[in-house]
Amino acid sequence: MIDFHCHLDLYREPKRILEECISRRVFVLAVTTTPSAFAGTKALVGEAPRVRVALGLHPELARERLGELTLFDKLLPEVKYVGEVGLDGSLELKHTWTSQLAVFRHVLNSARNVGGRIMSIHSRRAAKEVVAELQQCPGAGIPVLHWYSGSQRDLKLAIELGCWFSVGPAMVKSKSGIDSIKLMPKDRILTETDGPFVTVKDEPAYPWDAEIAEHGLARLWECSVLDVRRSIRTNLLRLTTMCA
Ligand code: MN
Repeated sequence: MIDFHCHLDLYREPKRILEECISRRVFVLAVTTTPSAFAGTKALVGEAPRVRVALGLHPELARERLGELTLFDKLLPEVKYVGEVGLDGSLELKHTWTSQLAVFRHVLNSARNVGGRIMSIHSRRAAKEVVAELQQCPGAGIPVLHWYSGSQRDLKLAIELGCWFSVGPAMVKSKSGIDSIKLMPKDRILTETDGPFVTVKDEPAYPWDAEIAEHGLARLWECSVLDVRRSIRTNLLRLTTMCA
């Protein structure tokens, strides 16, 4: 099972969740929200098998953590994955838009300068803008749009640009999510949870709840959950060989 977007460091008991991921053999991409959180998350994960840590600067924190871009650039050469990064066009974040854009552009540029990275990207209410920035910065690496919720038109553009997608429990249950998944190339889809921010049955989603997304994909693709799991795994293996 694969959870390609999880905030492992933000669970109440991250060590216990990590141990359960190891015993359940879940692949986890532990995204971070600030460059200063990277070291702690990396220390938490240690040498855990199948768990990777991404270097991020979440759009919600872009303005207050602008100063951490120096640390971002310093850490970037040693990481394979970047995330969570991106743009958020929600009304309550509008006043931070200029900083968000500056941070995202900086991140893409830096990623390009080190030869490209695999990036888990947030695009809530900003799919069009995220796609436009990616288009402006080819060579930044492989964008994996997490929890895509934009228009079908922007989705088609994202697909043309070579974007990948990570699909979580909520997406397979909403009409717009399902319509989007139907357009996405099957060989560029991964599963995710976005835990602990997403809840499943009044509890934070755990990485193994990626299974809910697997079941949803099995329904849409009219195949078995095992087939889905196999495809997602094949996709991940291919993705990891696409960037240095
Ligand atoms: Mn997230």
